[in-house]
Amino acid sequence: MFLCSCDQCRQITGSAFASNLFIAAERFEWLSGSNEIAAYKMPRRNISKSFCRVCGSGVPWASGDGSRMVVPAGSLCAEPKVAEKFRTFVSEQPSWSSCLDQVEACEGLPP
Ligand SMILES: [Zn+2]
Repeated sequence: MFLCSCDQCRQITGSAFASNLFIAAERFEWLSGSNEIAAYKMPRRNISKSFCRVCGSGVPWASGDGSRMVVPAGSLCAEPKVAEKFRTFVSEQPSWSSCLDQVEACEGLPP
């Protein structure tokens, strides 16, 4: 799993970083709903954003050369069985996300 802070991943996710798993395309199979997927291809770095037209959830997308599927970790219904392996493009990490462990944590919304 990569946690990517590149400008494109931040913009396409609207978050501090993208959390993506990678799997060989031949090992990936859609079980249902693939006809409801819409995609946007970013002009730089071969990044795409695919999402479900019905619920808006981010869904897997094919890498630029089609050899891998990029799976947004947050779209999974269960915890992935892999750990974060790399933080990528850290020089593009926004300053507001560099000290998350120092931000007050709440179980729900703040009081
Ligand atoms: Zn990125």
